[in-house]
Amino acid sequence: MSDLEALAAEIAECTRCLLHRGRTKAVPGEGPANADIMFIGEAPGFHEDQQGRPFVGAAGKFLDELLDSINLKRDQVFIANVIKCRPPGNRDPLPEEIDACKPYLDQQIELIQPKMVVTLGRFSMARAFPKARISHIHGQPRKIGGVLYYPMYHPAAALHQPSLRRTVEEDMRRIPELIQQAAQIVESPPPTEAEQLKLF
Ligand code: URA
Repeated sequence: MSDLEALAAEIAECTRCLLHRGRTKAVPGEGPANADIMFIGEAPGFHEDQQGRPFVGAAGKFLDELLDSINLKRDQVFIANVIKCRPPGNRDPLPEEIDACKPYLDQQIELIQPKMVVTLGRFSMARAFPKARISHIHGQPRKIGGVLYYPMYHPAAALHQPSLRRTVEEDMRRIPELIQQAAQIVESPPPTEAEQLKLF
């Protein structure tokens, strides 16, 4: 069993937060261990909880289309979530749930060592861009610890708000060029207090 598979097995049995009580299946994430790109969503929804796989519902179908637009198939990228179990009624993840699950995502990133981490939505964005607003920083990459973080709106946001669809599609289309340039992009220091204020 690979380290990534062992981690997935550990996640499947996890009881670190109360969400384990309501889950059908945990959703560790899936994709090749040597993926160049990782997509990180928010949390499993109904279908993901049923199947134990990420992004298999309506948002997943749109994610597949977005991947297709840059000639990628989902089995070429690693897809995971900030939290691995479905919150009741698909409510937002709680801070204590995000904290409990954080070591799993940290280990996945460390094992996969992707060139680029695409954050989908505000909860995964907050890992690399704490306190920033997605409307201000989507589509702006930032290199942190050797990894290029690239914040995008969540595909579900574009399904609920059709005006965001074009933005999501355009941000997606920049990924191949950014991957090519990833090695040359210089490391960003964490945003200063003044920069943070400009970001909001
Ligand atoms: N939305 C997410 O953020 N993750 C999934 O796995 C499915 C929908």
